Amino acid sequence: MRAWLNALERWFLPSRCVLTGQGSDHLDIADTLVAKWSVPEAVCPVCCEPSALAEVCGHCLTQPPAFERTQVGFYFEAELADLIHALKYRNQPAYARLLAELLAERLDVAGVEAMVAVPLYAKRRRERGYNQAELLGQALSKITGIPLLKGVRRIKDTPSQTLLNAEQRRRNLHGAFSVDAKMFKGVEQIALLDDVVTTGATMQALAHSLKTVTQVKSIQAWAVAKTK
Ligand SMILES: [Zn+2]
Repeated sequence: MRAWLNALERWFLPSRCVLTGQGSDHLDIADTLVAKWSVPEAVCPVCCEPSALAEVCGHCLTQPPAFERTQVGFYFEAELADLIHALKYRNQPAYARLLAELLAERLDVAGVEAMVAVPLYAKRRRERGYNQAELLGQALSKITGIPLLKGVRRIKDTPSQTLLNAEQRRRNLHGAFSVDAKMFKGVEQIALLDDVVTTGATMQALAHSLKTVTQVKSIQAWAVAKTK
């Protein structure tokens, strides 16, 4: 039914690239642009950092994070970075659907029972008017049929982490999330969703909080893009 509706929508509303304005035969972005974006390949399956032969890296072997697998669509660069910036800072919530479609084409969703969008601190969400990760989650949920769970809150404002190193990010995020365990009753395999993953510190903090208070056994970190 969903595929049929999508086909009907494409018939009435043919795809058009949001960046070039040209007609597109696939998503609302030119396939030729997407084909040039780089994709993490020789990376550790757990943390997505470069790793020869795509094996679990030394860091993940000695100090495993609270999540078991990271899946991202692309590296955060070129036109994709512009799209994500527009979604976050230039009030373009409609890009969430396109970004979710781009991510969905690259994800292995097998076994994942529910998704959780990385929450924003309430004040920041009010300022922006929406949480971009939640919009991505809603769109991805429609595409994959995997429910998006609520039940996590960000209880500590963590101002921009851009200038912090990995250890500072980790400390900055300590106690940043609160989890309502009853929302996760009976759920064992989940995926956390964010727009961009940088060092993985946010995913680690949220996954750690979830594993501390719920019965969730396996957590994946999903993001549209990863910084190099
Ligand atoms: Zn690793």
